[in-house]
Amino acid sequence: MASYDVIIIGSGPGGYVCAIRCAQLGLKVACVEGRETLGGTCLNIGCIPSKALLHASHMLHEAEHNFAAMGLKGKSPSVDWKQMLCYKEETIAQNTKGIEFLFKKNKVDWLKGWGSIPEAGKVKVGEEVHEAKNIIIASGSEPATLPGVEVDEKVVVTSTGALELGKVPKKMVVIGAGVIGLELGSVYARLGSAVTVVEFLDVITPGMDAEVQKTFQKILKKQGLEFIMGAAVQKTESTKTKAKVHYKLRQDDSEHILDADTVLVATGRKPYTQGLGLDALGLKMSSRGQIEVNDKWETSVPGIYAIGDVIDGPMLAHKAEDEGMAAAEQVAGKHGHVNYGVIPGVIYTHPEVANVGLTEDALKEAGHAYKVGKFSFMGNGRAKANFAGDGFVKILADKSTDRILGAHIIGPAAGDLIHEICVAMEFGASAQDLAMTCHAHPTYSEAVREAALACGDGPIHM
Ligand SMILES: Cc1cc2nc3c(=O)[nH]c(=O)nc-3n(C[C@H](O)[C@H](O)[C@H](O)COP(=O)(O)OP(=O)(O)OC[C@H]3O[C@@H](n4cnc5c(N)ncnc54)[C@H](O)[C@@H]3O)c2cc1C
Repeated sequence: MASYDVIIIGSGPGGYVCAIRCAQLGLKVACVEGRETLGGTCLNIGCIPSKALLHASHMLHEAEHNFAAMGLKGKSPSVDWKQMLCYKEETIAQNTKGIEFLFKKNKVDWLKGWGSIPEAGKVKVGEEVHEAKNIIIASGSEPATLPGVEVDEKVVVTSTGALELGKVPKKMVVIGAGVIGLELGSVYARLGSAVTVVEFLDVITPGMDAEVQKTFQKILKKQGLEFIMGAAVQKTESTKTKAKVHYKLRQDDSEHILDADTVLVATGRKPYTQGLGLDALGLKMSSRGQIEVNDKWETSVPGIYAIGDVIDGPMLAHKAEDEGMAAAEQVAGKHGHVNYGVIPGVIYTHPEVANVGLTEDALKEAGHAYKVGKFSFMGNGRAKANFAGDGFVKILADKSTDRILGAHIIGPAAGDLIHEICVAMEFGASAQDLAMTCHAHPTYSEAVREAALACGDGPIHM
């Protein structure tokens, strides 16, 4: 039996970051992981592999659509799907091995196997029981499905199966127009699949800025994705190679059927706590199956903490990482902190979509007086040169103080541009602060400055 200051269960972005920070703060730490490799959902079956496929398929899209106009002539590349999957696997391996290296460097013990908590202060892995002054649960999440939809991970797949299909399907139906469905739907549309997205609501990417939602859907349609909105999926029927998706239109209750070679169920994710023994511990859970924590990430059982997808909040890798660092600091007797008001969200399609802070709808609902500064990428020289003029930057600022309250970007490198606004918001900056900051020319980030200028006396290039 080994004894630790902290044992973390799960090595996703929440768990591994927490383990490294605990070690940096001088604590003796172990991390339990049941998978063959470290890095959790994000590195193995989430963020990293999906971005590898998005990158490869975007390169193909550029070759097919923009190369000739730039004077790059010749045959467009064809898709070697097996090699693309190898590239994705290699990308995963580089990242998961990187975490293994960081564990060794920081002297974090990897306890291999599935862990449970027989009582506070103890973690069981296989037959071995280890002692821990503090336990941090970072067991993550798993895909949620719908009643009547039987997932086999071959024909009817979750995101996990969609990252390793045997071949590129001719017809793909995506159930759910959220981030994961649209990212993976874009991958297959670019690779030649006819992709139809079936969404229960009347808008895509629920919770995002309404103007961004509309522009984004228009652009995706132009890229070949089809949308059936306001449709409630009733069930799927599948054989070894094909599937049928039955849905009802909410407006008139009419029933319809779609044929597909692959159905991707992308209807969200749910917390994963199986096998941890939380019932016997009496740990307080929410009605949505999340572990309840206070503002120090402490659960209802003293000495046990929880972070990441398994607790409330956006299911995002960087949110889990921030909680991992903050919880480590709490355990080490410091004051960990996460600013939940400034957590960016990004969709890695092309163009990218990114947001931080409040939406106009939320501000209206709260009765908050605000102003809007907007700038189109059509007015940005760099974007025009790169065939990336679709989209805009929109900054929302307090009407009287000019303090930035939120930002919504659809356009090139939106996922990187958003961080300028995150930093500004962390420092309580005004739109004018951004507008007065010199931005290098020609860069996409000039569009952020122009949107900030638009909150005041007006943008220059529009
Ligand atoms: C297709 C896809 C794309 C995504 N893209 C992005 C993106 O671009 N950006 C982003 O921010 N987020 C993205 N996400 C979400 C992101 O992956 C999660 O928010 C993030 O991984 C959560 O981190 P976590 O540490 O809480 O849990 P996880 O990453 O889920 O890790 C939990 C780990 O705990 C292990 N575990 C669970 N129970 C036990 C146990 N009892 N014993 C031992 N080990 C256990 C699991 O095996 C797993 O490895 C994506 C998700 C998916 C599915």
